[in-house]
Amino acid sequence: MTGSPLEIVTQSSAETVAIGEALAGCLRDGDVVLLHGDLGAGKTTLAKGIAAALGVEDVVSSPSFSLVNEYDTRLGAAVTRLYHLDLYRLRSEDDLASIGFDDFMAPVEGITLVEWPERASTALPERFLLVEIETIASGSRRLRFAAIPDDEVSGRRIESLRSHISSNAD
Ligand code: ADP
Ligand code: MG
Repeated sequence: MTGSPLEIVTQSSAETVAIGEALAGCLRDGDVVLLHGDLGAGKTTLAKGIAAALGVEDVVSSPSFSLVNEYDTRLGAAVTRLYHLDLYRLRSEDDLASIGFDDFMAPVEGITLVEWPERASTALPERFLLVEIETIASGSRRLRFAAIPDDEVSGRRIESLRSHISSNAD
């Protein structure tokens, strides 16, 4: 690993939302963030924090039936649009083409968040931010952040994220 991996434990959903808000400060158009974790881990909760910090006014919920929800962000935000994918109900990777998955993996004007990215394992981009969320206890979660591939660009991203999160916690 270039740089040490970033791990954070949250003790409430509000704390996970706050981490999402801090993470949003490091995101720019073109970024892809994969949210990995079991049902109820807190993927959508983290997405809500990201959306809130970008000034999304709509209620953000799991786009389980449509697979994709799109949101406008606040005018002037560093991120133009938010694409929120949830692949839990994807039946086969062959169905990815029908939702235009490749375009979401290279967003020109916006960023893409993906819940259940492992359902699209053969269609993921070369570069992304991976957040793995693990349930420790009923109110407590471990969030682990890694930037892929393991190179200098990724190392800088994780360091930037580390400073955003620690300054938000002050
Ligand atoms: P997922 O999208 O991963 O299926 P959700 O974000 O929809 O999960 O739901 C997470 C659930 O866990 C919510 O009911 C939330 O209130 C609860 N929860 C409890 N503690 C935490 C925590 N520390 N972080 C995130 N969610 C938590
Ligand atoms: Mg969800």
